[in-house]
Amino acid sequence: MENIKEPVKNDIEISIENVSMTYQADNGTDVKALTDINLQVKKGEFVALLGPSGCGKSTLLNIIADLLHPTEGNVIVGGTTPKDARLKQRYGIVFQRPVLFDWRTVQKNVELPLEIMKWKKEDRRERSTKMLGLVNLSDFANHYPQQLSGGMQQRVGIARALAINPEILLMDEPFSALDEFTKEKLHEDILRIWRKTHKTVVFVTHNIQEAVYLSDKIVVLSPHPGRVSAIIDVNETLPRPRVPEMKTDVAFNQLVLKVRNSFEEV
Ligand code: ADP
Ligand code: MG
Repeated sequence: MENIKEPVKNDIEISIENVSMTYQADNGTDVKALTDINLQVKKGEFVALLGPSGCGKSTLLNIIADLLHPTEGNVIVGGTTPKDARLKQRYGIVFQRPVLFDWRTVQKNVELPLEIMKWKKEDRRERSTKMLGLVNLSDFANHYPQQLSGGMQQRVGIARALAINPEILLMDEPFSALDEFTKEKLHEDILRIWRKTHKTVVFVTHNIQEAVYLSDKIVVLSPHPGRVSAIIDVNETLPRPRVPEMKTDVAFNQLVLKVRNSFEEV
């Protein structure tokens, strides 16, 4: 008899298996940044990596991005290695500061990754115009970065990260340097963009309210050494769509407290 297997619908985008990371510091001592991390991110999911400074959030994000290699364990991205995923342009990365080129217009900054990929001029223009529309910066295409506020510059960084149409958006404390008012606006922007583009998002933050407001799932990381101390499903308590009024809800604040209490003491 023929052995026909049912196709398995694999909706896992990122799988992190027993990952540990030890840095060799200059003075020869070892710094154990992450220990035995296990974590799965589904396609289209918005996952927050939450924890205090030094708990290994950036290390974990950089391992997913193939900017660092773990000392132990495995990472699988869409059935392949992080390196393959990077080479196939499956990642868009947004850092705390957008690192824009001052001498290039906003539009030319967004086009940079497309230039590197040797896209034709008209295609670059069409794509960057669309991305600037997505982040509500159409009117600023011909401005230069220094003419823009910090929040607008970060939106250029998001447009640039999305220009190559990656499946996965990796964000490392993208709003930490912004004031509270700007940050709240960017929260609405990122939720709208996520709804529209169906990206898988891994979002690093040290801000509990931000993690609760934005994500489907919060991975709570405790430090020394960095480890997963809880994984909390947000949608159970706080359904989509999220709206700013929710931030004052009892349910929202109870969840913030629950997340806070899930940190392990050092
Ligand atoms: P987070 O992003 O949560 O603030 P990091 O991932 O940057 O944390 O760092 C986790 C730990 O690893 C910290 O103790 C940090 O000092 C250490 N670390 C990070 N990068 C290096 C490095 N290149 N060499 C040695 N130690 C490092
Ligand atoms: Mg960091």
